[in-house]
Amino acid sequence: MPFYLSAAIAFIYGTVVGSFLNVCIWRMPRDQSIIRPPSHCPNCDGKLRAWELIPLFSYLLLGRKCARCGAPISWRYFGVELLTGLFYIALVYYYGWRLEFFTFALFGSALIAAFFVDLEHWIIPDQLNIFGIVVGVAHDLAALALIEVGHPEAVFFKPVLTIPVPFTTASFPMLQSIVGIVICGAIFYAIAVFGELAFKKEAMGGGDIKLAAAIGANLPISLALLSFFVAVALGSVIGIAWMLVMRAMRREFKSYVPFGPMMVTGAFVVIFLGSRIISAYMGYMMPR
Ligand SMILES: [Zn+2]
Repeated sequence: MPFYLSAAIAFIYGTVVGSFLNVCIWRMPRDQSIIRPPSHCPNCDGKLRAWELIPLFSYLLLGRKCARCGAPISWRYFGVELLTGLFYIALVYYYGWRLEFFTFALFGSALIAAFFVDLEHWIIPDQLNIFGIVVGVAHDLAALALIEVGHPEAVFFKPVLTIPVPFTTASFPMLQSIVGIVICGAIFYAIAVFGELAFKKEAMGGGDIKLAAAIGANLPISLALLSFFVAVALGSVIGIAWMLVMRAMRREFKSYVPFGPMMVTGAFVVIFLGSRIISAYMGYMMPR
């Protein structure tokens, strides 16, 4: 299939998913069902008609406001649809139509929703993290099945790790996702416990711990850890810049910057550049 055709299919698919993500971003932090009722204007409760549900186009056709009551529609609706469409194009570019296109499309979509919900409400809905964990485990099982039926080329990341038993020559196989969930969850849980002891306040929320587990479920462990380093680096830079800007403007500032959006950004960086960063680093450490 020529790339422009793959890109077009991926983009349309992404904008439709993005449209659904907008529903999740609005409803999940408000504890509303994401299935019922059908899409409606949050201001006048008017049910959206078919032509008002077309990703990207409806927003432009409606002139950024509700057709009935005229309430403005947030730029986020357009932004999330466009972002998800572009993300899916990048996925098909990097991974082709391999298994990882589909699992990263699902997991990455949950990440996009988590990003916007955490930014606004400072929470990451459990549904998103649980969905991410399920997708990660499902990837490994589907990968095993594809390899079993003779299609190893359809899988980018290997699903099984061989874990050595310390002090022996024995080893046992384990699903990559399970190892990632346990290790990443444990690291963030430890940070939360020690952070609370050190600072006498919540340093890491439960949502961040579950998000770490979900990232661990979907990325090989080295890439998952790399994504956390990217998140911390990004958090430091943005935190300091924010502080300087607020100080320069002589404004009071909230010292709390949610960490979830940093973790999401770290995961996206690693989904596309992680393997390159690691091989560049290894090449640097061990020059030929
Ligand atoms: Zn309305």
